[in-house]
Amino acid sequence: MADVESLINRHIREMEPYSSARDEFEGNADVFLDANESWYSGECDANRYPDPRCRDLRKLLESTMNLPFDMTAIGNGSDEVIDLLMRMFCREGDSVMVSTPTYGEYRVFASTNNLRTIDVSLKESLELDADGIIAALGRENPKIVFICTPNNPTGRVYPLSDVRRIADANSGITVVDEAYSDFAEGFESAVSLIAGNPRVVVMRTLSKSWGLAGARVGILVADPVIQRTFVKMKPPYNVSLLNQRAAIRVLSEPERYRDVVSQVIADRKIMERKAAEYPFVREVIPSEANFIVIRTDDADRLYRYLLSKGIIVRNRTKERYLSGCLRITIGSKEENRRLMEALDGYEAC
Ligand code: PMP
Repeated sequence: MADVESLINRHIREMEPYSSARDEFEGNADVFLDANESWYSGECDANRYPDPRCRDLRKLLESTMNLPFDMTAIGNGSDEVIDLLMRMFCREGDSVMVSTPTYGEYRVFASTNNLRTIDVSLKESLELDADGIIAALGRENPKIVFICTPNNPTGRVYPLSDVRRIADANSGITVVDEAYSDFAEGFESAVSLIAGNPRVVVMRTLSKSWGLAGARVGILVADPVIQRTFVKMKPPYNVSLLNQRAAIRVLSEPERYRDVVSQVIADRKIMERKAAEYPFVREVIPSEANFIVIRTDDADRLYRYLLSKGIIVRNRTKERYLSGCLRITIGSKEENRRLMEALDGYEAC
């Protein structure tokens, strides 16, 4: 197999990165007149440019999430990580592989980068078709294979052995999107595969279990060659000072967020049980994420009904294998109570 460096686009390998003011000195200083910032910090205390390398944040990722410092880099949400990985490894006309139904942004970013998306869909049981993917690799030669586990919108975790098998057979990059992994009990992360296969890249995010969707903090975990290239390519100040500060705050009190995750998992189980009792629910698709998926006879009607009660859920009825399905996020106790109260009244419609 080719070494990972040779998979990176040549123009990216050869480019000179932007050298930001703060990158150019070594030693200690306390008067900063190098970056044309304002001296006035005002109310927000954000007059200085942020650390382009997010060092304090990444040190905390190492201590709280066990992600080695030299293997992490931060994107403006994992959405930015997806886009930059495509630009690192793919050129116009290349292809990426996904398994639908899955997170829609892989396809959207493929389109914006003028890449083809090859779909080796899930099995009807919503399991990953690992053999189908491996068979298609030789035919299609995708530059990146995306595997989302637990998968959005099905909530299914795929066995790590399948992920490993695909990544080992794939001469390109295998990106494993673990955005929802904290909600899956006993989850085995693909981070453990990177040492043996540097073509594996893992994505995490602070948007879900860490409650920072508004702050846009996505995490790349990869072999240091990929990590360094990512840092070279990304806009130097892609993660704002305010967002880095927010991330550092939440990562400094992990127990608090772990408690919330435990509550979400417990509430998911309660909601799945309760949902299964409604006569209009034909199936509850077991989920290991922070949402449940229910199948009804008429998803559009139930969607509109819930909306009339001021409750918005995600209508997935048009997705392959998910006709009649709504994806419902686990909310606070009060939000879940409002949902259940609304569902109690639905039969009467
Ligand atoms: N991956 C998956 C599977 C997601 O569902 C989402 C957001 N819903 C993202 C990535 C994007 O995460 P971020 O907020 O970090 O951009």
